[in-house]
Amino acid sequence: EFTAMTPPDDLGPAVTPNDLDAFWVPFTPNAEFKQRPRLVARAEGMHYYTPEGRAVLDATAGLWCANAGHCRKPIVEAIQKAAAELDFAPSFQFSHPKAFELASRIAALAPGDLNHVFFGNSGSEADDTALKIALAYHRARGEGSRTRLIGRERAYHGVGFGGISVGGMVLNRKWFSGAMLPGVDHLPHTYSREHQAFTTGQPEWGAHLADDLERMIALHDASTIAAVIVEPMAGSTGVLPPPKGYLERLREITSKHGILLIFDEVITGYGRLGASFAAERFGVVPDMITFAKGVTSASVPLSGVIATEDIYKTFADSVAGADHAIDLFHGYTYSAHPLACAAGLATLDLYRDEGLFERVAGLEAMWADAIMDLKDHPLVEDIRQLGLTAAFDLAPVPGTPARRGFDAMRAGFHDHDIMLRASADTICLSPPLIVSEAEIGEIVARTRKAFDQVA
Ligand code: PLP
Repeated sequence: EFTAMTPPDDLGPAVTPNDLDAFWVPFTPNAEFKQRPRLVARAEGMHYYTPEGRAVLDATAGLWCANAGHCRKPIVEAIQKAAAELDFAPSFQFSHPKAFELASRIAALAPGDLNHVFFGNSGSEADDTALKIALAYHRARGEGSRTRLIGRERAYHGVGFGGISVGGMVLNRKWFSGAMLPGVDHLPHTYSREHQAFTTGQPEWGAHLADDLERMIALHDASTIAAVIVEPMAGSTGVLPPPKGYLERLREITSKHGILLIFDEVITGYGRLGASFAAERFGVVPDMITFAKGVTSASVPLSGVIATEDIYKTFADSVAGADHAIDLFHGYTYSAHPLACAAGLATLDLYRDEGLFERVAGLEAMWADAIMDLKDHPLVEDIRQLGLTAAFDLAPVPGTPARRGFDAMRAGFHDHDIMLRASADTICLSPPLIVSEAEIGEIVARTRKAFDQVA
């Protein structure tokens, strides 16, 4: 059955109005989208191509994920080979060699003794996995009273019930509030326009906000708290770099009280901040790191949790001597899927061979300068930056729900051939790590045009 909607004329032959109605697009105003869909049909390097062949500069690496750029040959070939060789291997009680090889490679990139990798498929799964590991870890150590989880305001940890519970995005929570995990608290977020406006890199102000954890410990007692989870740099809520000293302080307090510290590195992992992980950049080693996105440069879904020697050994010890006993009651059919592992290995090779993480470190100062060019734009109220990310807060339209980011994103895609990431009144940028200096100039110029149009 066809809807009354006017069919857009630039969909390409494959999509009918009926199809448009069938696909429920995530985190998207569906009615608006279906009036004028933003479709891409092909991608290569720094560009997407629309069905009619228009090149769109990708300033967002898809969704903070295609870190190596799009459709890179070595990754494509590895996936093709893997698909013909081993389409699937059961992930419970069986496995395949590439799963172990990739886990080793990831552990080698991670700091400290973060040596053990549990695989999932999405960031949401990785985050829920880490929370479950934290609860089971304390129980295995005879501290089953540690069930409380602490997240942070303005945090995004995916969309599972665990992730939305510890997450701090009001709209992601309120529709489902009856089903939140019990015993969850939220630290304050670390952003203050008053103290941090137009700061590139880490702000000086805000380390003291970590001390709120001491207040929660005083209130609930450390013996009830399992873990603290934070994004080392909040991404989806508008690039909030950690204040200098903040992560160090969180580490100090959690260590002192036997609370696990989890870094959600779904965005910050695999080069986005000029290092393998943010943990390395900031010199703060958590007890678990969650990752997704960049591990395969988004070519095949893959995610995971990296856990310390102590965590892994605690589970092993809990079943020592019982050769039928499972140490962790958790897993996904597609944990360590062969295609994802092949893609992951090829992607890590590419990052290493092209020195892409170091490349970001080298580009960072130039990138920060370039985006600050928009500082005087009448629409721009604040700019933040860290690694190869940036966010622009745009002046809201008084009396209307936040929409400036969406307006700029639409203008960018339809009229200025650039893909921007919108969130309410904020625009975020996170280009593939292969971006050239000329392309950075182009990103800033086209973003300016999109802002001009909205203003
Ligand atoms: N955690 C963080 C920090 C994220 O940015 C995201 C996605 O953007 C997720 C978790 C969820 O990942 P996914 O969409 O793969 O479930």
